[in-house]
Amino acid sequence: MSPTLRTLRCVVCGADAALAHRTKCPSCGGILDARYDGSPEAWRAAFVAAVRDATPGMWRWRATLPVPRHGTPVQLGEGDTPLIAAERPDAWGAVPGLRFKCETANPTGSFKDRPASVALSMARAWGVPGVVTASSGNAGASVAAYAARAGLPSVVLVPDDLPAGKASQIALYGPILIAVRGHFSRAYDLALDWAERSGWYDVTSTLLSAFPTEGNKTVAYELWRQAPRVPDWILIPVSSGPLLVGIAKGFAELRHAGLVDREPRLVAVQAAGCAPIAAAYDAGRDEVDAWGDPETVASGIRDPLQGYADDGTRTLEIARRSGGSALAVDDDAILDAAEAMARYEGVAAEPTGAVAVAGARRMIADGRIGREDTVVCLVTGHGLKDPAAYLDRSADPIPIDPEPAALTAALATVGVLT
Ligand SMILES: [Zn+2]
Repeated sequence: MSPTLRTLRCVVCGADAALAHRTKCPSCGGILDARYDGSPEAWRAAFVAAVRDATPGMWRWRATLPVPRHGTPVQLGEGDTPLIAAERPDAWGAVPGLRFKCETANPTGSFKDRPASVALSMARAWGVPGVVTASSGNAGASVAAYAARAGLPSVVLVPDDLPAGKASQIALYGPILIAVRGHFSRAYDLALDWAERSGWYDVTSTLLSAFPTEGNKTVAYELWRQAPRVPDWILIPVSSGPLLVGIAKGFAELRHAGLVDREPRLVAVQAAGCAPIAAAYDAGRDEVDAWGDPETVASGIRDPLQGYADDGTRTLEIARRSGGSALAVDDDAILDAAEAMARYEGVAAEPTGAVAVAGARRMIADGRIGREDTVVCLVTGHGLKDPAAYLDRSADPIPIDPEPAALTAALATVGVLT
């Protein structure tokens, strides 16, 4: 019998909740986790069949995902993103075993397409009137795109300091786009309140709803398929942490199936200007406290967790249990990493998408990651998401007249001589 989704179980009190578009535990308010039945043999058979399946993208793994009972998933070709080895690691402070998992190749340019595809698939199957999400930008674009695909209305609440490029990308998909004064947690509160009053499904990609997180498991499945040897380290940009939680769960399922013999060490990398999880880790605490005023160029992880710091506690617990850790990198290190990835490897990330690479460089410099270690850095969002973030660092074009001599002279000023 193949693995079967049975229940949503509270990770705090163990209570079960029905498979519906509810959010936190009805008994204690804790985080709910989707739980499946299935023997190791059943899971193994499901994974082996998925590898052989001709279905492109993440829905090849549908046997181990929440699948709508009626109809087909809402898809745009998400998943199957490239795993790219660093070609010139010594030029920019990396190690030979470092690889980029390029979530930038997803349909809207970020990993959020995975949770959005699952969330909108369930929303359509349940027949909810619409979906609502709070977003720091990328989840908003994903939810708006998949809602458009599903033919469902969507409301996207963003903080009012959203980068302009992200706002226009979201708007193109035609959601009702609301800019909430203040930081992400204010938008989170309003989305939750409105969903409770309206019956619309709140698909906010934190640990609020169990279903979107399931989509993130497919990153682990793909890493196993792309490189069967489990990496020593996986570094992940983290705000509340659903991507880290999903990757951990995916590897745990592969281990349950007997397909991997260990799990990777997971590192939650945060921006120094918004680092509630890294601060708790550094202090040796189990409980994560909400952050005050977030301030970082990495807009995708500018989330202070005010009102849902227990998401951070869960993420930290899982990172620790994996043998990993949490750390914070400052904005200069993030922008330096983005520049290095682009200039030495041809991989363009928005600042948030470079955060894991900044963390890897720090851990390599500190000796925590060894030269022989294998490392995967999640590149979560494309450089085209927020190109204005690099304006201060980019060279302006050199203006010339349309004459060969003018081109020769311009190139000579930068050392290119004929
Ligand atoms: Zn509970």
